[in-house]
Amino acid sequence: MPTYTYRCDRSHRFDEVHAMSSVPDESPCPECGSSARRRPSAPHLSATGSPAYGLMDAAAKSAHEPQVVSALPGSPRRPGTGVTRHPLHAKLPRR
Ligand SMILES: [Zn+2]
Repeated sequence: MPTYTYRCDRSHRFDEVHAMSSVPDESPCPECGSSARRRPSAPHLSATGSPAYGLMDAAAKSAHEPQVVSALPGSPRRPGTGVTRHPLHAKLPRR
């Protein structure tokens, strides 16, 4: 269900989750108890928790906080840490 943003007369903002078919225009503010009006905004369709959302979140976070890597890209692999351990693959020609 989508999340809707409300704001009361004292500028308290809070979010509530409602079904699209029964979203109220006003809701009591949890901080001051006064009536808060729904902000005119696009509903936040809940994608949190999905694998796609996690991937987008990780990509956005990586732009600002690069993840720590143990080796530089393109650096030679240590023995035994290659992609495959099949003995016949060791006989394949190397570049
Ligand atoms: Zn309030």
